[in-house]
Amino acid sequence: MAINPSVPPLVAGPDSNATPRSTTPVVVTTKKGIRAGLSAARRQGRVIGLVPTMGYFHDGHLSLMRAARNDCDLVVVSIFVNPTQFGPDEDLEAYPRDTVRDKRLAAAEGVDIVFIPSVDEMYRTAHETTIAPGAVADTLCGSHRPGHFRGVATVVVKLLNIVGPDRVYFGQKDAQQAAVIKNVAADLDIAAIIKVCPTVRDHDGLALSSRNYYLNDVERGQAVVLYQALDTAREAVSAGETDAGRLMTAMKATVDEQPLLACEYADVVDTVTMQPLKTIEDEALAVVAARAGRARLIDNMLLKREE
Ligand code: AMP
Repeated sequence: MAINPSVPPLVAGPDSNATPRSTTPVVVTTKKGIRAGLSAARRQGRVIGLVPTMGYFHDGHLSLMRAARNDCDLVVVSIFVNPTQFGPDEDLEAYPRDTVRDKRLAAAEGVDIVFIPSVDEMYRTAHETTIAPGAVADTLCGSHRPGHFRGVATVVVKLLNIVGPDRVYFGQKDAQQAAVIKNVAADLDIAAIIKVCPTVRDHDGLALSSRNYYLNDVERGQAVVLYQALDTAREAVSAGETDAGRLMTAMKATVDEQPLLACEYADVVDTVTMQPLKTIEDEALAVVAARAGRARLIDNMLLKREE
């Protein structure tokens, strides 16, 4: 149900973030509805938080909502499977969706507004402007998914313009995405504060992802090796290893030991620019991507040299 733009305040007073609530969030499907629904809150100086997602929530998504709930007076979660960030042979159609469940989970996190626009609502037929991120988007997933970060940057800028949040929340799980958005925000003078929240993992270490849904039991069992490869690199660096090439070879070999996994990349990159490093000075990011059946999985871990 789209909200009536004349509906007054969507949430209670300024202390409304004191305790998580389990009220039904208002579902908004139009840009106009969002702008109308948020204008009173904005006038009152309430802090608005935005959590952009593609839905099919897991604890990683919920952790971002919790962080936003903690920091902000009003929390907006967007659910939009953005076609412009999928390549022609990717899983746009198959991408898992369950908005009924998502709304229930968002309600339990005290989310105030769930924004679920259609593709037609987000992109006018004559849409032609895109954001082209720089070199930060060219490595890693950028080189394996041409145009992906252009789509991501464009939709995130659109969401920021529609919602106008004070703070926007992303997950470290998609480290390159967060780096791209930070760069775009700095280049284009976007005022929203960008918060990057820690990766939430399953009991064995596998990073939670909506795409884990594609894994069968055997693939799921083998997929944990992404985390193990990263964690082994982390241990090696804290024990004194500084050679990125050796770490990359070891990570790739670990992933390749699993017959159902095809390693796409295993690399050691700068945490801000996402460019490959030869030597680890202080800290770096170990990154890995692999295909497992229908799923493309990515993960990363901070590598820090001991003082
Ligand atoms: P998605 O719905 O996959 O586009 O993800 C929406 C947001 O949730 C992005 O900022 C992701 O980085 C974040 N996210 C996805 N998985 C996790 C995770 N396991 N831990 C923390 N954040 C995550």
